[in-house]
Amino acid sequence: MTCLIDNYHRRISYMRISVTDHCNLRCIYCTANQVPRLTHDDILRYEEIERIIRVSAGLGIDSLRLTGGEPLMRPHLVNLVEMLKKIEGIRDISMTTNAITLEKHAKALKSAGLDRVNISLDSLDEDKFKHMTGVGNLSHALSGIEAARNAGLNPVKINTVVLGGVNDNEILDFAYKTLNDGWHVRFIEYMPFACEGEKNKVFSENQTVSDKYIKALISEKIGNLEAVLPSAGNGPAKYYRLAGAEGTIGFIGAVTDCFCQECNRMRLTADGGLRPCLLEDGEVDIKTPLRSGISDDELKNLISSAAALKYEKHRLSEKVLPSGRQMWQIGG
Ligand code: SAM
Repeated sequence: MTCLIDNYHRRISYMRISVTDHCNLRCIYCTANQVPRLTHDDILRYEEIERIIRVSAGLGIDSLRLTGGEPLMRPHLVNLVEMLKKIEGIRDISMTTNAITLEKHAKALKSAGLDRVNISLDSLDEDKFKHMTGVGNLSHALSGIEAARNAGLNPVKINTVVLGGVNDNEILDFAYKTLNDGWHVRFIEYMPFACEGEKNKVFSENQTVSDKYIKALISEKIGNLEAVLPSAGNGPAKYYRLAGAEGTIGFIGAVTDCFCQECNRMRLTADGGLRPCLLEDGEVDIKTPLRSGISDDELKNLISSAAALKYEKHRLSEKVLPSGRQMWQIGG
């Protein structure tokens, strides 16, 4: 089998698929700028996603993550999971969701072949949750987490973006969840995006709370963090455990601890752009050639050409920020 190897000798084996740009939350740091959403015709149909992934699997893509927008906003997502699960070579399908409607879907998704979920949750306080998500109800997200665990979508990982002055006073509460409730919590550094110019930049990089700070705080206030291996997935997080905790604490230091040298991923946007890097603009349009009738071999070449566009590493430290799309248009 031909493998996808980029120009820096990294093997690409993981595809994040954004299935919609619609979201049922308005997180203050993510969907702050309202722009017209994609229409039904703009977004890839399930058959189109299936074909792209089947061809990608022939190039060594073996892990998939469904994301968005909010992936559960896309009707009949279970059908897509079923279709993707049948593709030869796909060994792991996961999803990133805000879990607001997960309670309703968890069992069916598991039966269809979804292996696990990452759930975005930035606050354990009802009022702050509403403030941070614009419209969200904390109890819905917590029910979604419970439903995911009960359905066996394990491990359920909780992703928490820490923003200075907003939810950084909850770091210890999240850490205690690994001790008291067996949660796997991952702290994610806020990544600055510069969309549509500075006027729309809601948060500054000064609000990125570094992994180093969070780790030191937890160690000082709760106890020693022992390094452990990840329970599933091959992402960029570094994992630790508090003594006696069932759950783990992961750190994704995208800004202060660049992990691009280990990057193994590409991203498919809902409107069919193949994006080699999260934090660098640049994409290959897959949808137009797909709808013009290209062959599988031509599709393979397009996917390979996107892998060849991967940057060596992001340039946040040089103040080069992604500006073409926002996080909700890429899927994280
Ligand atoms: N709606 C789904 C969810 O909430 O998980 C999937 C899409 S959302 C864009 C994916 C992840 O990106 C969420 O965990 C969100 O917190 C994170 N995110 C969004 N903007 C971010 C930023 N500027 N820096 C770091 N993480 C960000």
